[in-house]
Amino acid sequence: MAFNPADQIQDLQYFGEFGGVNPSISDSSTYTFLAAKSMIDTFEGNLAGCYLYSRHMSPSTLYLSQALAAMEGTETANVSSSGMGSISTALLQVCNQGDHIVSSRTIYGGTYALLKNFMPKFGIETSFVDITNLDKIEAEIKEDTKVLYCESISNPLLEIADIRSLAELAKKYDLTLMVDNTFSPLQISPAQLGADLVIHSLTKFINGTSDTVGGVICGSNDFIDSMRSVNDGAAMLLGPVMDSLRAASILKNLRTLHIRMKKHSENAMYLAKRFQEDGYKVIYPGLENHPQHELYKTMSNPEYGFGGMLTLDAGSLEKADDLMELMQKRNLGYLAVSLGFYKTLFNAPGTATSSEIPADEQAEMGLTDGLIRFSIGLDNNIERTYEEMKRCLVELDVIQKVRV
Ligand code: PLP
Repeated sequence: MAFNPADQIQDLQYFGEFGGVNPSISDSSTYTFLAAKSMIDTFEGNLAGCYLYSRHMSPSTLYLSQALAAMEGTETANVSSSGMGSISTALLQVCNQGDHIVSSRTIYGGTYALLKNFMPKFGIETSFVDITNLDKIEAEIKEDTKVLYCESISNPLLEIADIRSLAELAKKYDLTLMVDNTFSPLQISPAQLGADLVIHSLTKFINGTSDTVGGVICGSNDFIDSMRSVNDGAAMLLGPVMDSLRAASILKNLRTLHIRMKKHSENAMYLAKRFQEDGYKVIYPGLENHPQHELYKTMSNPEYGFGGMLTLDAGSLEKADDLMELMQKRNLGYLAVSLGFYKTLFNAPGTATSSEIPADEQAEMGLTDGLIRFSIGLDNNIERTYEEMKRCLVELDVIQKVRV
């Protein structure tokens, strides 16, 4: 039977030690050993299945990690306190001083800043490439290249990475393919397409209630064990640990992810189609004019649709600002960064979530000032939402500016 990430989550069974239908939440930072020898063995990595200290793992973080590994179909996973905590520790685990990374140029601004401004402190340099151009990617691979990095659906331009082809390249040159799947949980399963490591900012769709930050890296037992090593593991030694209480609450939200993703996708598709019919410049992977629409269909788990993210170009930053303020006033959503909430969230990424990317590079990649990134919410009546959004667009005369 075909791999289905939501079924993988559903098929897990665990309950609390007192028979509770949810696992008990571990309320301890440290754990006792009945025999002193077991503690030594645990430190030396020779005793699996024992809890040592909650920076390493706790029963609650392990439950969530296992559920996310099941969702991505990897051997295991390691949750952390933020998406950036997972991205930075995974990169530092794979790369040594002098190593090189080839990364998509359209990625979350924080990841871009980490690669461009922070990693060079450790002698780790990155070449940024157009992730849709495989020849250019291959041309950038050097002898010391260790990692190929991309987002399945890129933030904010919604470009789709050809994960199967990237995995072939990674194999050919012995690279680690790391894929940030934050924008497409369930829709795309990168590890099933050949990615070595799959990352999520749990802060977004997976948790879905905008009440916490969190991250995960899904991969092989060997890799995750190496990240947790007490001697040289980046997760253990840099310490971006997720609290047990948060892990338990994210696990509970994860169980409704499939229902939420279907609704996010349905609503985003509806708005994208209507805005496109009206002549607005909208980017959405579900539209046939999206350059990687067909590619997406060859990679996705179809029942979860094309995702909840779309962009609309208002023509200028001023128009974008006016439109976002008006939409917030009309209670159509919030002018806020982040994504995956029940309410629609919007921002102009050129001056917000992608502001770390210099203006000339934004221009080169096609990130315009007037571009608004929408995370479409779970609105019950999306037609009503569309009508009101349309009124805002017409009132501000956006249509005359950016007809396609
Ligand atoms: N990856 C993507 C695609 C993101 O959009 C973000 C945050 O916006 C991150 C990673 C970072 O995640 P966090 O904010 O949980 O550290």
